Amino acid sequence: MRAVRLLGLGDLAVVDVARPEPGDHDVVVQVQAAGICGTDRHLFLGEFPSRPPVTLGHEFAGVVVAVGAKVGIAPGTLVACDPNIFCGTCAECRRGRVNLCEANVAIGLARDGGFAEYAVIPAHRALPLPAGMTAEAGAFAEPLACTLHGLDVARLIPGERAMVLGGGVIGLLAVQLARAAGAEVLLVTRNPHKRAVALGLGAQHTAATLDEAQALWPRGADAVIECAGVTETMTRAPDLAAPGGRVVILGVLPKGAKVAWQPFDLLFREVSILPAFINPFTQSRALDLIANGTVQTAPLISRRVTLEEAAHAIATPALPADIKLLVLP
Ligand SMILES: [Zn+2]
Ligand SMILES: [Zn+2]
Repeated sequence: MRAVRLLGLGDLAVVDVARPEPGDHDVVVQVQAAGICGTDRHLFLGEFPSRPPVTLGHEFAGVVVAVGAKVGIAPGTLVACDPNIFCGTCAECRRGRVNLCEANVAIGLARDGGFAEYAVIPAHRALPLPAGMTAEAGAFAEPLACTLHGLDVARLIPGERAMVLGGGVIGLLAVQLARAAGAEVLLVTRNPHKRAVALGLGAQHTAATLDEAQALWPRGADAVIECAGVTETMTRAPDLAAPGGRVVILGVLPKGAKVAWQPFDLLFREVSILPAFINPFTQSRALDLIANGTVQTAPLISRRVTLEEAAHAIATPALPADIKLLVLP
């Protein structure tokens, strides 16, 4: 079968590999849709830890075609992959903080993932899709689960103001979750297409720049949700928060990057910085939110590409108007 494999730093290729067989506790998924994520580009550039050679792709859904002897999922079931295999025995897992597992093995980063015709995953990381959901929608379960963790951390209450920084897929999912939480939502992105999509998904306001956003909401936002992962937005996020506000960090800066914040200002205005890492027990709720129509995914699909096109797309910078590219192997 064909697979998009990271062979080393900056070395990505579509290669032929053996079709995987299930172990006793595994399922083999015929991948029908797999999302390309900013993390895939970070992996290609060596800005995020990985273990090459490895098949990338950690946001995918498809149909189960083979199962191990001890698996309860029937072949033919549509499933979404939860890529994080936590160990269950480390100090953090024992406290229920599985997203901070010291021995987490991420599918598509540390072991073979979904940019391939088939992927083998542990059955307990295969979440059956709610009735009627397509694999294309199911491919959004993982990014939505990560965004949902961020919104859980934000603890928005109805009537609060949420400012979302960044109009990529995470930002546009955060817009929908903040609206569902009853917040008034302002999305900040330079890209006019993404601003239009945000308005269509329920955002009440948009701004092209941080200065424009600050002028719209001079008191600041109760929650600033950083989804851009760039130095400027990360640095200025606390300035955009109201007194007593929260800054939630979902965006990923390269490992080792630093930003300058003013502890005096954080203290005197009691602004909290709240990072939200991956998807601790949030992916089932994510699937339900897609199934019941609270979160729309179709408007977020920019392009559908082949495995060959995927390798090129990961190795080159994202186009400004691109939201989510789906790989259809
Ligand atoms: Zn991702
Ligand atoms: Zn653990």
